[in-house]
Amino acid sequence: MIVRNIVLVVIIVAVVVSIMPNIPYVFSWAGVTSSMMRGEPKQTVDCADSQYQLLCGLGTKNNVERKAYIQLWLDEDMNLEYQELPILWRKGMSDFVLTFPGKGYPDDKNCTVLSAHYDKAPHNQESEAGLDNTAGVYSLMLLAEKIKQESQAGNPPESCAIIVFSGEEETGWGGAYVFDKWITGEGIGWSVKDVLVVDSIGRQGLYVGATGNGTGIYFHMPFVGRRATNLHSVYEGADYWPINMNVADKLKMAGKNAGIKIKVYPDIVGWSEDEYYYKKGYDVVRVYGDDFKYYFNYIDTLDDKTENLDPKSINDAVSVFWEYINLGIK
Ligand SMILES: [Zn+2]
Repeated sequence: MIVRNIVLVVIIVAVVVSIMPNIPYVFSWAGVTSSMMRGEPKQTVDCADSQYQLLCGLGTKNNVERKAYIQLWLDEDMNLEYQELPILWRKGMSDFVLTFPGKGYPDDKNCTVLSAHYDKAPHNQESEAGLDNTAGVYSLMLLAEKIKQESQAGNPPESCAIIVFSGEEETGWGGAYVFDKWITGEGIGWSVKDVLVVDSIGRQGLYVGATGNGTGIYFHMPFVGRRATNLHSVYEGADYWPINMNVADKLKMAGKNAGIKIKVYPDIVGWSEDEYYYKKGYDVVRVYGDDFKYYFNYIDTLDDKTENLDPKSINDAVSVFWEYINLGIK
């Protein structure tokens, strides 16, 4: 009898010990599971439709062509002043920086930075790189158009905004590096309040994950420790750093104002420019799309097409970003 009770207690303790560290991860997994059950987007992009010309055109270009494409749009369609910051060790690539005064201008020059990288991975030039990061770049093009329109109509955002089309992310953080050097150096006398890195959105919902130098959904295995998965295999997760909850909470508030739910998954870790901004001490989060099944199957492949994107998801992101810069000066 005593032996049986001891065995029972040992089993119960073992179960509790193995479950406890996983409690924070359960929320991430619940999110992953629900996003996977949501299935395909209801609507996708039809590249034959002229309203998607800008998006689909961007998809078909290689890195150097994308730079020219964005610059042509800035010069001819936007007709706004912008700063070109060459990335000297990536021949032909540059950041493009657009600054938009808010209601508090010229006193308020402490701005939200929204950055999206437009380079594709070097081996991936033939792919349309829809999710990574054609949709992100396109969302910031739409945001720039909206801010310009609203400002011209006498309704500038509450807070100033800086949009960065980053020319190099895939082989280092070159775009973030040159922007940081510029804004903290010669700059234009403006400073950075916080940073939203927009990378791999445009299929379903929006979420904020942790910053890291690895990619995966993290969890805890009893007696083994931290592991990560990309839904195909389980591997040792790399370093990660917790979400900046100040920025995440602001983003959730912006989502609320836009009528769009922003999810926060502390144990889903991505690898993008936010690592650079984080290590430099900026208040930064990365904004992702939460179609994990699509992400892990198609990222960096020829099948990551602009036609697989969901226009509603991209428009939702634009609405959230607009609300974010309208939360006021804090
Ligand atoms: Zn990316």
